[in-house]
Amino acid sequence: MGKYKIDVTEENCTFCLRCQLGCSDAYFKSFNQNNARIRVKTTGLDCTISFTDECRKCGICAENCFFGVLQKTSMEETV
Ligand code: SF4
Ligand code: SF4
Repeated sequence: MGKYKIDVTEENCTFCLRCQLGCSDAYFKSFNQNNARIRVKTTGLDCTISFTDECRKCGICAENCFFGVLQKTSMEETV
């Protein structure tokens, strides 16, 4: 599984949580947002996205985001 740099554009987030469910499914074989290694928090209309220390930078969350919030770039392309 590749390693990616993941850029975040928080203002486009719809709070759909597909990213969290994709991560949870990949690593825990369950749809439980509490297991996700990406955190999506909302305060009013503002969204804050962060990654836990356990994040493997695999890019699965980005592949599950249909709104362009999470953009993955191969680490090999960034060097
Ligand atoms: S990059 Fe991978 S491990 Fe990290 S939050 Fe996204 S899906 Fe989970
Ligand atoms: S999948 Fe994209 S739009 Fe949906 S909560 Fe995650 S970052 Fe936001």
